[in-house]
Amino acid sequence: MNGTMMNTPLVLPSLLERAGTFYGKVEVVSRLPDRSLHRYRYADFYRRAKQLAEALQKAGLRRGDRVATLMWNHYAHLEAYFGIPAAGGVLHTVNLRLHPDDIAFIMNHAEDRFLIIDDVLVPLYEQVKGRVNLERVFVVSLTDAPVSPEYEKYEDLLATATGDFHYPQLEENEAAGMCYTSGTTGRPKGVLYSHRAIVLHSLASAMADTLAISRRDTATPVVPMFHANAWGVPFAAVMVGAKLAFPGPHLDPVSLLDLFAEERVTFTAGVPTIWLGIVQTLEKEPERWKLQPMRMVVGGSAAPEGLIRAFDRFGLRIVHAWGMTETTPLATVSHIKPTLEGLSEDEQYALRAKQGVPVPLIEARIVGDAGEAPWDGQTMGELQVRGPWVASSYYRMPENDSFTPDGWFRTGDVATIDPEGYMKITDRTKDLIKSGGEWISSVDLENALMGHPAVAEAAVFAVPHPKWQERPLAAVVPKAGIQVTEEELRAYLEPKFAKWWLPDAIVFLEEIPRTSAGKFMKAKLREQFKNWNDERDPGSPHS
Ligand code: ADP
Repeated sequence: MNGTMMNTPLVLPSLLERAGTFYGKVEVVSRLPDRSLHRYRYADFYRRAKQLAEALQKAGLRRGDRVATLMWNHYAHLEAYFGIPAAGGVLHTVNLRLHPDDIAFIMNHAEDRFLIIDDVLVPLYEQVKGRVNLERVFVVSLTDAPVSPEYEKYEDLLATATGDFHYPQLEENEAAGMCYTSGTTGRPKGVLYSHRAIVLHSLASAMADTLAISRRDTATPVVPMFHANAWGVPFAAVMVGAKLAFPGPHLDPVSLLDLFAEERVTFTAGVPTIWLGIVQTLEKEPERWKLQPMRMVVGGSAAPEGLIRAFDRFGLRIVHAWGMTETTPLATVSHIKPTLEGLSEDEQYALRAKQGVPVPLIEARIVGDAGEAPWDGQTMGELQVRGPWVASSYYRMPENDSFTPDGWFRTGDVATIDPEGYMKITDRTKDLIKSGGEWISSVDLENALMGHPAVAEAAVFAVPHPKWQERPLAAVVPKAGIQVTEEELRAYLEPKFAKWWLPDAIVFLEEIPRTSAGKFMKAKLREQFKNWNDERDPGSPHS
């Protein structure tokens, strides 16, 4: 027997309409390339997003057509986030940090018809335009620079709208957005988000025990809007009517801290690299910024425990979360359950450094060689997830072994889950170090190293070994102006790990190579140090 409720589709225009109806006075602030602040209100955003939808339809956009964006985080990108899906199109956020070859590959693979681009990024587009097939390119003027007559102006596009706009009858399973994986571990793969997935993801992220985004917040997505929907923050913020303060292209610690202080930001999200830079700046000048007590969501890579502790000293709360492009992206979040509040301070920090418990409607399991692994906090296995905002396939890639026959998504991450349900990422499958048949977690080692006061960054990776197949090597970037030796770091690690886990060597680098999303590029380190053991006579760490 069916229930008697309405089968209202879960579609993005509901969120946009709600924002326009109830939160017209709420501000949207954006830092522009010249550092000045652009300000307008939700009423303007609502009007312009609908203008964009109407104008795109007039320009011939058909249902399901892809509209690419090459943009930083600001008001016009927010308009695209809602205006493109409201027209029945698919918002395809393109990662502007990728190599032009990859951008061309992605735009061609997605078959993008139109592009909306920041004026400051036109030089990037010029490097790919000979290789892609876009019908029209609309340039958003963030500076006074004239727009080349070769392109159209975004404002002129909006001006073609008359106000006579009606939403198409959207179905909730239609695609609203699209994002390619950044390709840390292979060729970029396209993920198509349905309206339904994004609406449910917004509801789940806003929940008190998830990210607790509400209309009392001022939210700053530092994570780029071309990276997994800026973790859904713009969608959730608009749904609840939160003030938004966008950083534009200025992601250095001082600009961000200025924005947090001036706009009284209470909620923000970004990768650990951003927060490492911020905490170092705060430690140098603790009195310079008057900040609100902020919740800072950290994901994309593991949040080292030392980082969580460091921000607590400033009254700023790191919220550790895990997700992927394929999971829209939020899938787990680490808060201390009330039933665990009796744990010691150290135990609580250790829990907060885990990636956390699945958010409502997401299920997780870990699978090892012998099948599903127990939730004992020790046994490692591949993390698999499922739920209404987890991809069930890649775009135009019918066969892919990322999806199991019984309906789970294989994340490619290796994890443990403890009896309380807290998941901990120990590695990516491709970054695992297998020494003498046993797995070593590179993440545990690097987080421990980053807990040393002299270490700014550390990456641990595998090098081939004649006897043990692989052994760990650590690359360390010391904090500016601080001296530290390999012996000191080794002595620091020794009490924390089994002997055979300790890196065979610690090498000092000026920087760790990074991906476009700011993650350590371990493939590059493995390549650089692959002959490490050829000239050496390595000892016997397992004895
Ligand atoms: P890419 O796969 O190219 O890095 P994604 O942005 O989709 O692109 O990244 C997802 C991956 O990032 C996850 O599979 C995981 O390895 C890593 N990741 C995300 N959040 C965390 C976290 N909190 N801790 C550790 N790793 C994380």
